[in-house]
Amino acid sequence: MSEVIFSGACGTVTGSCTHLRWGKTSILVDCGLYQGDDELEQRNWRRFSFRPHELDAVILTHAHLDHTGLLPRLVAEGFEGPIYCTKASRGLVSLILQDAGHLQEEQARYARKKGYSVHKKPKPLYTAKDAVRTLKLLKPRVFDHAHDVAPGVTFRYSRAGHLLGAGSVEIRAKGSDGKHRTWLFSGDVGRYGVPILKDPEPAYSAPDSLVLESTYGDRDHKETNPEREFRKTIKKVFQRGGTVVIPAFALGRTQEVLYHLAGLVESGDLDPKDVFLDSPMAIKATDLYRQAKDEHDEELAEAIEREMSGLGPDRFNRCRSVEQSKALNRRRKPAVIVAASGMATGGRVVHHLKRLLPDERAAIVFVGYQAGGTRGRALVNGAQTVAIHRETVRVRAEISILHGLSAHGDGPELQRWVESLPGRPKRIFLNHGEDPARKVLAAELEQRGFARPALPYSGTTVKW
Ligand SMILES: [Zn+2]
Repeated sequence: MSEVIFSGACGTVTGSCTHLRWGKTSILVDCGLYQGDDELEQRNWRRFSFRPHELDAVILTHAHLDHTGLLPRLVAEGFEGPIYCTKASRGLVSLILQDAGHLQEEQARYARKKGYSVHKKPKPLYTAKDAVRTLKLLKPRVFDHAHDVAPGVTFRYSRAGHLLGAGSVEIRAKGSDGKHRTWLFSGDVGRYGVPILKDPEPAYSAPDSLVLESTYGDRDHKETNPEREFRKTIKKVFQRGGTVVIPAFALGRTQEVLYHLAGLVESGDLDPKDVFLDSPMAIKATDLYRQAKDEHDEELAEAIEREMSGLGPDRFNRCRSVEQSKALNRRRKPAVIVAASGMATGGRVVHHLKRLLPDERAAIVFVGYQAGGTRGRALVNGAQTVAIHRETVRVRAEISILHGLSAHGDGPELQRWVESLPGRPKRIFLNHGEDPARKVLAAELEQRGFARPALPYSGTTVKW
C-alpha cells in the first residue's frame, strides 16, 4: 500500500504536514505549527494521526514555523529519525525552533500565573530542551541532487525563492503497482523579479502529482516600489520630527526592508545612523542571509560587493541588549526602528508601539500580511485604540501597509511556476491556502488546461 495522507494546512495557511507511506516505510513532508485564532492553535495539541517513532524521516521545505514548529513535539513523542533540510535552512531552523521552545515555556508560565489556561496545569506544548534535541536531528542536503530518504525513496530540492534556503521537494518512489512515480511538493513559492533571493526555479522532472501552495491564489500583488514608498514616508515623518516604526518578521522580511533602506542611504536620502535594527533574532538571521552567497540574486550580490546591501554589521545600528532597545525611548531625534514581530503580536516592537502610537508625528509601516485577531490587523483596519500590556493606548500615529514585500507569489506567479515545470502534472492538489484562494486558483489552472485540481481536507488520503 502506497499512499499520501494530507494532514495539515488543508484549507488554511498554517500547520503544513503531509504523511507519505509505502508499506512500512513512512515519512513526513513538513511538520508545522498551527497559528492564528484559538480554534487553530488548539489543533497543535491534537494527537498525531501516525506514531512518531514509526516515521523514517521528515523532509522540510523551509524554516518558517508553520512548516517546522511541531517538530519538537514530534521528537518529544518519540521521533528519532533524520530531519532533512537545505543547508541554508539549517541556521534559520535553529533560530526559530529555539525561540519557539522558550516562547512555549513562557506562555505556559504566564497561563499558570493568570489561571486562564484550558489545561488544569498549564504545560508547554514542548520545551526549549525538546527544541535542542530536535536540532541534533537536522541533516542538511544540497539543492539539485537526489538524496536517499528511505529504502527505494529519493528526494531532490529545487529553489522556491520564498525564504533563505526554501525549496520545493520532488520525491520519487514506487507505487503499489511497482511503477515509479514522482510527487512534487511546491513548499511556499516566492516571487519573481524581486530582490534579494533567486527566483523560484522549476523542478527537474515532470511530476506525476503536484501539491501546490495557494496562500495568495486569488490575489494579484500590485506593482509597487518599496524603496520609493519608504523614501516618501521617511522624508515626511522626519520633517515633522517623528519616528518611523517598521514591524517586520525577523526572517526574510527584515532583510528585504534593510536592503531597501540601504538603497535610500546610497541615494543620500537617509543617514544610516538614524536606522535601528532592534531584534536579536533578526540580527542573527541577517548575518545568515549575508553569509549564504549561493542564495543571493544578482541585485543582492552586487550590493554586497559595493558594501551597500544593508545586511552588513556596520551599516545600521543594531540593538542586541534590552538596554540598547530602551535607550531608543530617550532619543529626541527622528529615527527608523525595524523590530519584530511583523504583526505586532509580541517582541520589542510592542514597546515602541506603546510609546509611539499616541504620537501624531510618528508613522507605523506594516510590511506584510496581517492576520485576523492580531494587533497589526486592528491598526491597519483603523482602530482608534489598542490594548498593550493591559493598557488602552490611543492611536494618533499614521498607519500604513506596504504590500509589495510579500514573500508569497500571487495567483499569476503561482500559475507561472506551474507552467515552468518540465511537464504537466497528471494530478494537482492545492493546499496551504484558505478555501476562497484555492478555489480561484483551481479555476484558473483548469482554464489553462491543467488537470482539475483537488482541494484536500485534513485526513484526505490518495494513492501514491
Ligand atoms: Zn513560508
